[in-house]
Amino acid sequence: MSYRVQGILEDAIEAIGDTPLIRLDRFAALHGLKCNLLGKPEFLSSGGSVKDRIAKRMVEEAEKEGRLIPGKSVIIEPTSGNTGIGLALVAAVKGYPVIITLPEKMSREKEATLRALGAEIVRTPTEAAWDSPESHIGVARKLEQQIPYGVILNQYDNPNNPLAHEYTTGPEIIAAITAPSKSERPTSGKVDCFVAGAGTGGTITGVSRALKKTHNAECVVVGVDPVGSILAPDNVNKEVQSGVCTYQVEGIGYDFLPKVLARESIDVWEKINDEEAFAAAREVIRVESLLVGGSSGSALAGALRYLHSSDGFERFGNVEGKNVVVMLPDSVRNYMSKPWFLAPQTAGPTVLANQIETALGNAA
Ligand code: PMP
Repeated sequence: MSYRVQGILEDAIEAIGDTPLIRLDRFAALHGLKCNLLGKPEFLSSGGSVKDRIAKRMVEEAEKEGRLIPGKSVIIEPTSGNTGIGLALVAAVKGYPVIITLPEKMSREKEATLRALGAEIVRTPTEAAWDSPESHIGVARKLEQQIPYGVILNQYDNPNNPLAHEYTTGPEIIAAITAPSKSERPTSGKVDCFVAGAGTGGTITGVSRALKKTHNAECVVVGVDPVGSILAPDNVNKEVQSGVCTYQVEGIGYDFLPKVLARESIDVWEKINDEEAFAAAREVIRVESLLVGGSSGSALAGALRYLHSSDGFERFGNVEGKNVVVMLPDSVRNYMSKPWFLAPQTAGPTVLANQIETALGNAA
């Protein structure tokens, strides 16, 4: 028997991050990969996503700078939901009121979680351009001007967003890879390839910096961008789309380049559509018992695409011992009511379902 001794934590803020790295052997085998495919499931963080980390750091640093004053400041943030949940969690413990501006597209589950944590929510039209007054960013700016002591911590520009990942997510991955392994499978002992979707780009930028600066300068970082978004460079986008268009996957992709996304931190881009993303998410839930959300499916589908490309297959996908780490940013519990998850599977009744029918005497 072994277990980690953590002691008693002060509050939910202390239970942010420190997520494990988990082998995805069954998923990798189904897709003909020989490398070690490893997932980092961020739904195990206290607020349920990768964004808890930046919420904690942005609030703590703003308090140190005197931008946030307990008992006075009101936190306002435009988000696709998870940063809002992280902020609402941190703010509820510390006693700040919170207003979240959220595009209509984002799930009712996220809204319900935000309300449970005491946040006020303003929904904004999904199709509004980021720089229009009606967008989630435009509405947040207006609220900041009008509401006394309103403060936008601004995940799109705030250096503490990538820094949270450079100082926590990246080092956790390195620590897990370099720790003694229970598996008999060969390992290079390094992170050879890292795959993540980009929303603000904070995760991929911060983790890439940690990996390349302190661990393995040769690590190949793969960015995943939904078809319809413009975060990948123009030449990559043009191969699959003619302009900005909509997509259902939440939390990744934008119609502008956030300041915190450092494209030079990313070596390769993969464009992934909704269908591939949701299929990969459903499959990893089924075969690995990891209850991940839609953007985790995008990252997994992007990893598969790269690892089966001629470059990726030769260098990593087909090589035993190579370690490929994939970020899994949130939980399917954020998307239980979405058609991509609820829609019935088309495979028909299983052998077990037929046996149950027979055993209960209901067979037609
Ligand atoms: N997946 C989900 C579900 C998210 O909410 C986010 C954050 N918008 C991301 C991925 C991308 O994270 P980042 O903003 O750090 O690029």
